[in-house]
Amino acid sequence: MPTRRDLLRLAPAPFLLGAARAAEAAAFERIDSHFHIHRDAPAVFASLKASGWSGLDLVVCPVAGDEPFDLEARLDATLKGARASGGRVAWASTIDARGFESPDFAERATARLRKTFADGAIGVKIWKNIGMSIRGKSGAYLLPDDPSLTPIYETIEKAGKTLVAHLAEPDGAWLPLDDKNPEFPYYSKNPQWHMQGKGTPPKEAILAARDRVLARFSKLRVVGCHLGSDEDHLVSLARRLDEFPNFAVDTAARTRYFARGDRDRAVAFLTKYQDRILYATDYGLRDADPEAGAKALLARHDQDAAFYSTDAEMVYEGRPTRGLALPDAVVRKLFRENARRWLPGIGV
Ligand SMILES: [Zn+2]
Repeated sequence: MPTRRDLLRLAPAPFLLGAARAAEAAAFERIDSHFHIHRDAPAVFASLKASGWSGLDLVVCPVAGDEPFDLEARLDATLKGARASGGRVAWASTIDARGFESPDFAERATARLRKTFADGAIGVKIWKNIGMSIRGKSGAYLLPDDPSLTPIYETIEKAGKTLVAHLAEPDGAWLPLDDKNPEFPYYSKNPQWHMQGKGTPPKEAILAARDRVLARFSKLRVVGCHLGSDEDHLVSLARRLDEFPNFAVDTAARTRYFARGDRDRAVAFLTKYQDRILYATDYGLRDADPEAGAKALLARHDQDAAFYSTDAEMVYEGRPTRGLALPDAVVRKLFRENARRWLPGIGV
């Protein structure tokens, strides 16, 4: 017997189809500020063009210990994809922060970043392994405001690029891993990022270190991924946006928090901070067949566009909800204008 939840999952979402979508695409080009393609994927690029989307491919260096990771190969593959995308995909590079105590760390890392800027990278991503898993010789965790990272931030700021920062995690990373944990599906599959009881820095310590970077580098544009890890705390996020004018956030993989929360609160927040929020998915192509990947990404874009801009009833990741019907001007900022301002070089 299918459960009510199964039936809801199978229910058709109010996607825009055919002519309606073409008209939408002509109305304005939308931007997804955070996804992961990392290769030449003509089917994905063609689909983005046909549906009127472009986006940002963010390189991550997802390592903490001494395991091998070929960052050069990942940077090269991402650059090749971006160049083949016909302007649909911009890209952001990254650093391998594991060597932060080496005497030549700053020199090597900044030289690599400058090379990626020469190759067209519009920003630099830093990841949650800073704060949650990379440690120095003393055993202490590397935090985002560690002095070893100062030359990195200075190089990004001087080049006029954007720092894209995924630091910390949803509160679920620090809550018991049971079915009351809203992030159970992720942490049960990725236990290495479930921090409860591991002696890692508390979430607030990581975010406070990030905030010190925001305060110190006040001319550096910073986009905090995943609502700046304040997805459970819109009040804290509002306070941070008020305090740091150089800070914006993306919605990558967090539209579901708006879809399952208080609708009026979500509308009020997205309206008040309409200049500071960038639409994003966190879509990852990984090893998927590009044709199937293109379809999945298009379905996500269609549903999210309907969620933010219409009041349609829909099932969002298994839960019934209703679109937010944000005003047109707010929708244009969320899906385009904010990305163009905070990530110069993105979009067609
Ligand atoms: Zn991501």
